[in-house]
Amino acid sequence: MRMSNALIPTLRDNPADADTVSAQLLLRAGFIRKSAAGLYHYLPLGKRVLSKIETIVREEMDAFGGQELLMPIVQSADLWLQTGRWHAYGPEMFKVTDRHDRQFCLGPTHEELITDLVHSEVTSYRQLPLRLYQIQNKYRDEKRPRFGLIRSREFIMKDLYSFDRDPEGLDKAYWDMYQAYTNVFNRCGLKFRPIEADGGAIGDSQTHEFTALAEIGENTVVFCDCGYAANIEIAPCPAPQPKSGNEAELAMEKVYTPDAKTIEAVSAFLNVSATKTIKTLFFQADEELICVLVRGDREVNDVKVQRVHPCLALEMAEEDAVAKVVNGGFGSLGPVGLANVKIYADLEVEQMTNLVCGANEEAYHFINVNPGRDFQVEGYYDLRMMTEEDPCPKCGQKTDSARGIEVGQVFKLGTKYSEALGAKYLDENGKEQVMHMGCYGIGVSRTMAAAVEQYNDENGIIWPKSIAPYHVVVVPISAKDETQMAIAEQLYADLQKRGVEVMLDDRNERPGVKFKDADLIGYPVRITVGKKSAEEGTVEYKLRTEAENEVVALSEVVEKTVAYIFS
Ligand code: ATP
Ligand code: MG
Repeated sequence: MRMSNALIPTLRDNPADADTVSAQLLLRAGFIRKSAAGLYHYLPLGKRVLSKIETIVREEMDAFGGQELLMPIVQSADLWLQTGRWHAYGPEMFKVTDRHDRQFCLGPTHEELITDLVHSEVTSYRQLPLRLYQIQNKYRDEKRPRFGLIRSREFIMKDLYSFDRDPEGLDKAYWDMYQAYTNVFNRCGLKFRPIEADGGAIGDSQTHEFTALAEIGENTVVFCDCGYAANIEIAPCPAPQPKSGNEAELAMEKVYTPDAKTIEAVSAFLNVSATKTIKTLFFQADEELICVLVRGDREVNDVKVQRVHPCLALEMAEEDAVAKVVNGGFGSLGPVGLANVKIYADLEVEQMTNLVCGANEEAYHFINVNPGRDFQVEGYYDLRMMTEEDPCPKCGQKTDSARGIEVGQVFKLGTKYSEALGAKYLDENGKEQVMHMGCYGIGVSRTMAAAVEQYNDENGIIWPKSIAPYHVVVVPISAKDETQMAIAEQLYADLQKRGVEVMLDDRNERPGVKFKDADLIGYPVRITVGKKSAEEGTVEYKLRTEAENEVVALSEVVEKTVAYIFS
């Protein structure tokens, strides 16, 4: 490609609403443009990167027995009503109505459609197992589209679905896909970890998230030298020490605590440690308001709460909803005297003596509150977020944590969809059996952004070789100089003949401008043709990962580039 013809609209400054490094750089370097909130154009450079990632994904899916197909994006409501997800999916689903008033959605995922297809086309054990996948746009009306391609409303996903005769077959498909995903993200050059994750409302379905490590990631990964690695959402906390019984239970008292509305303020005002207080939080669990208690210095883990109180959506309650059941505001909530609300408490709360909590009355707290004596709960469960002081659930040693971006997920669905949609087959004995399914997603567009999040510097993107839009940029210092241009053209042709993808920066621009763009766009190799190329037969060879140039003989530079790019 010649830069003079290319649509690569680089920008000097960061667009105001670009909220992460990857969004800034992909916009500035001319890979994407925003069309509306969470909706992006992939410009020619962006499209090339996507195609590279898709090729890697395709090769790995095919290597593990995947067959590519393509399903409609527009999906009828009927199937979603059969699985109960038409309502359960919630406001993230984009719904559309046709001219006959029939309802459809823009596919956020395709379990319903593929299960129905397989139900129609597969009847015998001889046709199983099957691994079917597609690479396609998905639609999710995210509450907060942000981070550019990382949380967009239209995005590209590879979704594979496996259909097996029995749980053993599913297990094989699952671990094959686990390996395929490991290969994909290794080949894309990402730093990532497969982590154990939440199996969702269905219970204990096995699932791993493939998480690209990055500071802006929305997931927290807990990991340990022993190999344990999990999303913090599911990391179990150890059972607390039983209370010693040395501390006598005192009489509960209401105390005046003006202006003390946070745990820190209350513990400072009453001169007690935060570990002697409890945090009282209200959640909206679908239509129901529930109350959750954890020790004052702990954080509630929503996923654990949702496991003990199954619901479709769990969100922090609004203050007016809470005001309907208690008198006090958010600054003085507590479980004492709370009626008509289910209270779930963390295991640690059960072991506390003479604790401090809000009195449900503005500016008052209770002291010397004792669980069981002064308030009752539905039950005590592990409901808190693990911390770095908690030991590894597997080996008991110290763990570490890191932030990460979920780029893929593998999930055992079991028979949930095949039962709901009647995906059955006849076994060797002519007996009807339900298929065992798995689903496996990779965020192709998110992977592109995750790579930029991991590989960049103050000058721009540093693409891993395998997914760079072009391998090499050839920069003639002066496009007006015929000798330089002739050498550059020759290099351009010779490199392409060897399978190298080359951009020729033939623009009539100052070298500084061309170098800046080359760094911003992030080509792995830059070859500069200047005066010395004609006079001494040399070019400047620079890797994007290195600070310094190397002077290389013109006669050797093609070989050197080929060796680097394809190593
Ligand atoms: P998240 O928890 O980040 O919302 P998810 O678990 O709902 O993601 P899946 O249903 O597992 O996502 O989808 C498979 C993959 O699609 C994810 O691993 C992710 O890489 C990608 N993906 C999901 N939502 C988005 C989005 N809004 N924008 C871009 N990619 C997405
Ligand atoms: Mg997921």
